[in-house]
Amino acid sequence: MSRIAYVAGQYLMHRQAAVHIEDRGFQFADGVYEVIAVRGGRLVDEERHLVRLRRSLGELRIDPPMAEPALKVVIGEVVRRNGVDTGIVYLQITRGAAPREHAFPKAATPTLVVTARRTKPPDPRLGEDGIAVITIPDIRWQRCDIKSVALIPNVLGKQQAREAGAFEAWQVDRDGEVTEGTSTNAWIVTADGTVVTRAADTAILNGVTRLAILDIIRREGYRLVERPFTVAEAKAAREAFLTSTTADLLPVVRIDGAPVGEGRPGPLGQKLRATYVALAAAA
Ligand code: PLP
Repeated sequence: MSRIAYVAGQYLMHRQAAVHIEDRGFQFADGVYEVIAVRGGRLVDEERHLVRLRRSLGELRIDPPMAEPALKVVIGEVVRRNGVDTGIVYLQITRGAAPREHAFPKAATPTLVVTARRTKPPDPRLGEDGIAVITIPDIRWQRCDIKSVALIPNVLGKQQAREAGAFEAWQVDRDGEVTEGTSTNAWIVTADGTVVTRAADTAILNGVTRLAILDIIRREGYRLVERPFTVAEAKAAREAFLTSTTADLLPVVRIDGAPVGEGRPGPLGQKLRATYVALAAAA
């Protein structure tokens, strides 16, 4: 089946789909994006993704390219035309094309691109065995709450993790506190069984999966504190895990080569993972 993309008003074959060479997304990374999971042909947590998208656009003062009900129709149509049952939708909105000048253009129409593709469900072995993370300095800007397409530090960090044989890199701020992964949120479980994750400040992206896991934690009555934690605290934690749209929840069993707890996925993370995966499947 040929892949179809929605680009600035049209559904096109991928090889015909293109944006302008002076698009500000291309020239300045002046745009935002969302990645939404598709499970069983349905979008997981679409509403929360659209709320975050609206917020990102508002923070950058980019006009929404269309009303939200219309956007939902486009997203649904791209999923349908690509025959995606399990996969992802990628959605990008930029400030539009205009002669290159840093300040906002007087008149530019925001560019909307929506693509969708089938993906394999997250490898169950990663959930069963757990994954390794390394820690790296957080060299990003001070508005990581905006889901901007400017991802160079994240790209470099993820590559560093890959080269170190790890799944993810946890970024660490100047106070030695973990902010988040390069494309995932970071969590630990302390010795007394409290789940700890950084509060959604401007140093992290407020993950949609993070919010779903917080809902589960509150509903099930687990102890929870939203606060930063240090690398040392993470290394001494009973359990650690990460969350994202594409990874779901994955247990972190090694940090910088040192085992977390017993070096095996912990029971609380596994319970949360099972509950989340079932919820996402029933979305
Ligand atoms: N943090 C960063 C920097 C991300 O890029 C992502 C996802 O891409 C996340 C966290 C997790 O967010 P979500 O759960 O919405 O996928």
